[in-house]
Amino acid sequence: MKVPQAVALTGLLVLISLACGAGQAGQSKPGAVRVTSTLTQVSALVRAVGGERIQLTALLGPNNDPHQFELKPEQVTQLARSAAVFESGAGVDKWLVRGLAATGGAVQTVDLAKHVHLRAGSAGEGGQDPHWWYDVDNAKLAAAAVADELARLDPAGRGTYERNAVALGQRLDAADRQIHAKIDPIPVQRRLFVANHDAFNYFLPHYAITLVGDIVPATDSIAAVRPADVARLVAGIRQQHVCAIFTETTIDPNLAAQIARESGARVFAGKLYGDALGEPGSPGGTLEGALSHNGAVMAEGFNSC
Ligand SMILES: [Zn+2]
Repeated sequence: MKVPQAVALTGLLVLISLACGAGQAGQSKPGAVRVTSTLTQVSALVRAVGGERIQLTALLGPNNDPHQFELKPEQVTQLARSAAVFESGAGVDKWLVRGLAATGGAVQTVDLAKHVHLRAGSAGEGGQDPHWWYDVDNAKLAAAAVADELARLDPAGRGTYERNAVALGQRLDAADRQIHAKIDPIPVQRRLFVANHDAFNYFLPHYAITLVGDIVPATDSIAAVRPADVARLVAGIRQQHVCAIFTETTIDPNLAAQIARESGARVFAGKLYGDALGEPGSPGGTLEGALSHNGAVMAEGFNSC
């Protein structure tokens, strides 16, 4: 019983010392387990599993692109005060390494990519596609890993964490069914997808959606775009009669607009949640909410042809 008491006491002291500047950490919760998360997708999973028993510091917000993110000094301080840090892994939050080094390397980290099934990705990201959270089964595996770690830090909460993870899994399954209901009636030959970057390869195969191409042909949203890649994509869009190009909430849509002009397609009005979810508390602020939204936007885009 010494461990949870020690954790609770540490958490309490940290809360007291942070009372005047919690910033993104939100409301102080006496006795809560203090943890930190990187990407908004990971934060949503940790928030859903941890519920009221944790105090979560989310490093990234809805407007942050994880492929081009730098930790602020106060975030490094928050890292040092965490009982555990949940990272998305597979290269997408590699900037965390420097922050952890600055803390002296004493903070426990949980690399969720190690608990899910990864697909191959582009070379720049270490050969693995880091956007695993848009696969419902992966999200459930990650939620179970989050529940395990939180139960290790707070054994008295194990039942709560496990129940929360199961309930989240049920909401994710419900979102998956909703997406199927919208996408399945659309003829497969009209399910043609062009996106800003390679963030949806875990999602598309579940709903028999064909990837025609990405404007940035890499899992890293800031990879260089070569004229030859643009020409190949424009040709593909024309050849396959793609009418809707989808954009993402965190990415400048100018290149998408240019490709639309050159190819005769148009940029679809609805934006997808790619590398970031919406504001916590909004419909797109949960993983299941963002998945449902993305499925609905894609269905509307395919139907608009
Ligand atoms: Zn990405």
